[in-house]
Parts: sequence; structure tokens; C-alpha cells
Amino acid sequence: MERVFNFAPGPSALPEEVLKKAQEELLCYGDTGMSVMEMSHRSADFAEILDQAKADLKELMEIPDNYDILFLQGGASTQFSMIPLNLMVHNHKADYIKTGNWAKKAYEQAVKVGDAKVIASSEDKTYSYIPDYDISMLRPDADYLHICVNNTIYGTRFAPDRLPETPDNIPLIGDMSSNILSEPYDVSKFGMIYAGAQKNMGPAGVTVVIIRHDLVGQADPSIPTMLDYKTHVDKDSCFNTPPCFAIYMCGLVYKWLKEKGGVAAMAELNKAKASKLYDFLDNSALFKPTVLNPIDRSLMNVPFVTGDKDLDAKFVKESKEAGLVNLKGHRTVGGMRASIYNAMTMDGVDALIDFMKKFETENK
Ligand code: PMP
Repeated sequence: MERVFNFAPGPSALPEEVLKKAQEELLCYGDTGMSVMEMSHRSADFAEILDQAKADLKELMEIPDNYDILFLQGGASTQFSMIPLNLMVHNHKADYIKTGNWAKKAYEQAVKVGDAKVIASSEDKTYSYIPDYDISMLRPDADYLHICVNNTIYGTRFAPDRLPETPDNIPLIGDMSSNILSEPYDVSKFGMIYAGAQKNMGPAGVTVVIIRHDLVGQADPSIPTMLDYKTHVDKDSCFNTPPCFAIYMCGLVYKWLKEKGGVAAMAELNKAKASKLYDFLDNSALFKPTVLNPIDRSLMNVPFVTGDKDLDAKFVKESKEAGLVNLKGHRTVGGMRASIYNAMTMDGVDALIDFMKKFETENK
């Protein structure tokens, strides 16, 4: 059976070279005579896999030395709770920008912990834009500002040069689940970045946390041990059994990215992919993009509609038959969404555009 072009929002396509490498090493990793899945997380071999993955991620994202890198479980959703439990500790206040469902879910967990406030939102237009922000909107005694850097469902993003400014004492916390490693972001602008792996880094089961060291160890000792960042920093992500195989897979993806020229080279390709797709959508007589302002557009998730629900459903069905799968949009937006993460090739984007042109002609 041939592999399809998989436009899924997550879990998503992985680079074919990475899957082949994992296949090669599945039964026997190096000279160990066993699979990474069968290895002790305390073994020297696994320690090397973990250390290398960390080192490669640090290099790829140019993570400064004063940041800790963690590989945790519980998905990005567990971070929605860990963030307020660990960081909403001085004035018990935190500000949130609500740019979509995930940003909202993060905020809802913070409300359980303290005084969380939405200071800007794009809910009025189904989250189809990035709301205006200026530093005066931030409460001066907020413990942090949380944003969802790339909004997977709605296809918007805070571009690297449009991150909200905060004063030095108010760290910016960013959910980068759906755009980590897609283009260069200055890590030093954040107090913490987190990302579930299953879109742009590896399989589901591991969440990367990059946290400035001074923010670790502030939580009240009453919080559950597993939810305290200090627990995981002190034990280098091995307080309990980490998701070994998922970390190994992320490591393979990091190596692949380095071979491809790193994040800057990937950003060039991602920009070329997204602008080709958007150029087509902006000029199409049938398809319309749902994010209108080019500066708000995600490079990773591109939602679009025909304006006719039946035609949308027909498109999703026929595109699947043509080997272009998982193009159905999220139920809150409807229509279609093409997720074009790092592993999606230009060939995949070209195939999608060719199919859309054909569909357009057939459905005039
Ligand atoms: N944040 C964003 C931006 C997402 O797209 C998702 C969806 N995977 C999540 C958080 C939730 O991630 P998880 O399923 O790993 O908890």
C-alpha cells in the first residue's frame, strides 16, 4: 500500500526518513540487541538518547543555558494546570490572551488555581484573527502572560516578530504545540514554552517543556510532586519512567531537522508551502481562506471553506479518495483545514492545490 498525503492536525505525518530509521532500529537499537521500547530508562543507552535529544533541541532552537528542557507526559493539556500551579504563586494572578479553543482551555484551568483574566480575545469572529495587544492591557501584578502561539484549529499565529511584550518581571508563557520548530522564535522572549510532540516533533505521548531556570521551584510544596517542574528538573525528566520511545522518536526528528538545515531552512520551506496554498486560496473562485489578514496566518494550519456545507463534505470525501487525507476542518469552524507541518512536503502541497483546481472546475 502506498503512503497517503496526511494533512491531519495531530497526531500528524512524520518524515518518511524518520519512520524508516525507526523501522531499521526497531528490533535492535545499535549493539544493544533490544528495541528502545524494551530498554531500561536508567540504562546508559537510554541516557545517551535523552541527552542527545536535549542537546539537539537546544541547538535547533538556540535555547539559552539558563533554560531547562523537560520531556513530560500528560500532553500539553496537563501543562494547562501545571503552569498556574507552578507560576501563579506571587500575586495569584495571571493574564491570558484568548485566541482559540486551546487558549481557552488553558485559561479555564488557571481559573481553578487563582485570579486568571482574559485581557484580549478574538472569540467575536470565531478566533479568525490575532487580537490587538499592548502592554498597558496587562495587569502590572500578573504573575505571567499566557498565549497560544499557533492556533491549530483556527489557523492563526503570533509571528516571531509579533509576540506580546511584557515587562521583565512578567514572563511570557507560550503554547507552541502546533508550531514548535517551524520557524525561529527567540526563546529568551519567553519564560516558558511547551509543546505536545504529536504535531511537529514526534508521536503522541511526550510533551516538551522549556522553562527558564529561575521559574522552577516556586510552587507551593502542597502541590502534587508529579506536577512540580522542580521534580522533573532535579531528576532530568527521569523522576519516573519517561516516555522512552516517544523521546527517541523526537530525537530522530531533531536529527532529521539538523540534516535539513535546521529551523531557519525549515521556515523557508514552510513559508513557501503556506504562501503557495494561500495564493491559490486568495485567488480561487470556489475556496475561501477563513483567516483574512496575512500577518495573522499560521504557516502550519490553513483552514478554508467553500461556503456550502454539502460541497465541503464532497471535497473532504473526494480528496480522501485521491489520497489526500484528514482535510476535514474542526467542528467549530467547519469546512476544511490543511495541516502542513514540517513533515509535509512541497509535493504534498502541490498535490492538494492540483486537486483543488480540478474540484473547482468540476463544481463550477
Ligand atoms: N495546545 C494546542 C495548540 C493544541 O493544538 C493541542 C491539541 N493537540 C493541545 C494544546 C492539547 O494537546 P494534548 O492533546 O497533547 O493535551
